[in-house]
Amino acid sequence: MPSLSNKSAFVTAAAQGIGQAIAMCYARSGANVTAVDINGDALGKLAETPNITVLQLDVTDDAKLAKAVTDTAPELLVNVAGVVHNGNILECSADDWDLAMNLNVRSMYVACQAALPGMVERKKGCIINMSSVASSLRAVPVRFAYSVSKAAVLGLTKSIAADFVKDGIRINAICPGTVRSPSWEQRARDLAQRENISEQEAVQRFVERQPMGRIGEADEVAALALYLATDAAQYVTGQALCIDGGWSM
Ligand code: NAD
Repeated sequence: MPSLSNKSAFVTAAAQGIGQAIAMCYARSGANVTAVDINGDALGKLAETPNITVLQLDVTDDAKLAKAVTDTAPELLVNVAGVVHNGNILECSADDWDLAMNLNVRSMYVACQAALPGMVERKKGCIINMSSVASSLRAVPVRFAYSVSKAAVLGLTKSIAADFVKDGIRINAICPGTVRSPSWEQRARDLAQRENISEQEAVQRFVERQPMGRIGEADEVAALALYLATDAAQYVTGQALCIDGGWSM
């Protein structure tokens, strides 16, 4: 396994799903990980994991997030926190829009802005932002607010990449297809209820979107995040890397 020995990492949404898989993968690879999540109870499960320090934090709190990032001075910043709203534009309330933009995009802007000065000073830094295939890459029905926000994540990522490429900073976005996680399992249950179908049928609808015929696993996304964090990826910046069972091909 590639080594992240003694690197400091700040990973959001680390209490479950993709964020947790990345935090644990980085910790196993030797990084000192600050695992951040709003859900303190769920974070508690990670508290005994070697190389992980847990931090309960709402990433939509600009001041607290900026302070936590500045205090940690991470070499690796992994912005994973995000929320999926179901619905088209006519079903999107102003509150849905604000939460999607604040949690999925603004928190990344705040965290990157706090992390970059230290990274620039050290002439080395790696940022990974969790986007999605449902963004500017692919039109996905009933994912209006989500797709707008995840497209913005790609713009944010590329813009920072262009501005800081000469400063030793690499910043990339990961664009997963459908990945097994607690919130995806809830989306499948919600779909079953909305469409009055069985949960098994709802899961099958998600599976059918993926040409590979299966849902992705959080550990597969973590493996890509590990590659991007290592020197093996030192020529990679400003990219939107899809990991999606062929959905976007
Ligand atoms: P998830 O949605 O199951 O868990 C999200 C975590 O974020 C939870 O632990 C939650 O407590 C935390 N969180 C929510 N609001 C927060 C806040 N304000 N501050 C701090 N933490 C907060 O995890 P997931 O499905 O693996 O999704 C993780 C990321 O990956 C999201 O950005 C999501 O959009 C993206 N993504 C997921 C999929 C998928 O199919 N699962 C596909 C593409 C992209």
